[in-house]
Amino acid sequence: MGLRAACIDQRGTFGGTCLNVGCIPSKALLHTSELFEEASSDFAKLGIKAAVSLDLPAMMAHKNKVVGELTRGVEFLLKKNKAEAIVGAALIAAPGRIEVKAKDGASRTIETKHIVIATGSDVAPLAGIKIDETQVVSSTGALALKSVPKRLLVVGGGYIGLELGSVWRRLGSEVTVVEFLDRITPGLDGEIGKQFQRILTRQGMKFQLSTKVVGVEKKGEALLVTVEPAAGGEKTTLETDIVLVSIGRRPFVDQLGIEKLGVARDKQGRIVTDAHFATNIAGIWAVGDCREGPMLAHKAEDEAVACAERIAGRAGHVNYDAIPAVVYTAPEVASVGKTEEELKAAGIAYKIGKFPFTANARAKTIAATEGFAKILADAKTDRVLGVHILGAEAGNMIAEAALAIEFGAASEDIARTSHAHPTLSEAVRQAAMGVEGWTMQM
Ligand SMILES: Cc1cc2nc3c(=O)[nH]c(=O)nc-3n(C[C@H](O)[C@H](O)[C@H](O)COP(=O)(O)OP(=O)(O)OC[C@H]3O[C@@H](n4cnc5c(N)ncnc54)[C@H](O)[C@@H]3O)c2cc1C
Repeated sequence: MGLRAACIDQRGTFGGTCLNVGCIPSKALLHTSELFEEASSDFAKLGIKAAVSLDLPAMMAHKNKVVGELTRGVEFLLKKNKAEAIVGAALIAAPGRIEVKAKDGASRTIETKHIVIATGSDVAPLAGIKIDETQVVSSTGALALKSVPKRLLVVGGGYIGLELGSVWRRLGSEVTVVEFLDRITPGLDGEIGKQFQRILTRQGMKFQLSTKVVGVEKKGEALLVTVEPAAGGEKTTLETDIVLVSIGRRPFVDQLGIEKLGVARDKQGRIVTDAHFATNIAGIWAVGDCREGPMLAHKAEDEAVACAERIAGRAGHVNYDAIPAVVYTAPEVASVGKTEEELKAAGIAYKIGKFPFTANARAKTIAATEGFAKILADAKTDRVLGVHILGAEAGNMIAEAALAIEFGAASEDIARTSHAHPTLSEAVRQAAMGVEGWTMQM
């Protein structure tokens, strides 16, 4: 857009949490561990005989290679777009002035018209429990365990805990998830969440809901985890080898010096901005995990684009109703728009269309018939308000639903759009037909 830009990151490699210790390494391990489990237990049913064994260092090497290629790719893209890539810790000394400190102590001052804070988020700590990244780990440590733990206790049944719990369960760990609430993945549509938990339980994951972890102590080589009912009550202990703390993430902004400048923050410590990402201090903007909204890479990306457009004097906005969210387990869970619970709470009358993958031809051919697609449409206008998919490839299929919501489509628009046969996406079409009661494949 014709502006001169620089990007400062203290990590040493670019791409933030997502590329270095988030989306990308976790998806690499989810893919390889899924193949390992399939080859170990499912191939035989499909007529393939294989003697399978795990080479964990090679699996980790694949993950590290992908991370290296993508982070170098981002650095290349910065260069290609003539944005200066600076490695160092940034401190906002004043509006328009940044002090950057390199690891070797060298410092540099940068004068600029605009500052965009995109410092992301960090692991939320659990009171009284110290993360050492070897035996009591955050997601970062769980992405780099040196061996498969016999037992893994996951604190927090959100998407990060369930994804990483799935990785290690597939590789041989006994996984127990302890969750404070009475359900896992609280943001998901309730019906989807329940079915999802049933499937994970069938896969061998254990759940202890409405329970809080209050302490972890060493017992020889193992760990003793003290838990108590969320509502209070008698304490009990669980023995495990590794504890993964994944109770959420919190904004990572304390080191920026913005307190002194008076940049406003909310109760959760997130930077407050207006709808166009401007903070209360002229020339300082904020996007991504450090401000409100879902902590997702594509939400951060979309905000960054819109913010840059605003800075360049153009129009730019983000449609928060059309931001998809995906849990990359097997099966996957993907959703966009409103859940049934949200529509009920808002008093919006809606219709539902549903279609199970057991009745989808492609799902049968690939032996992946778990789950269903669900469409929520406005009872009066038929406008699509929410789409929720539990099933193989749900993460890819949700793009169609996001586009439908972005375009203000009616469920009938999806129902009358030709979908290739045989594909899993036909289930989405059949669910859309179901909104008006004319599902055909069931
Ligand atoms: C295990 C895991 C899996 C995830 N999987 C997914 C997924 O599948 N899909 C998805 O959409 N999201 C996923 N996420 C979330 C996603 O990673 C974040 O939403 C996204 O990275 C947020 O981007 P951001 O630009 O706001 O911040 P970040 O990616 O956190 O980047 C912030 C950067 O700022 C740097 N920084 C901070 N302070 C300073 C300073 N003072 N000076 C210089 N540099 C600084 C940090 O080093 C960091 O590199 C996952 C996260 C985790 C932890």
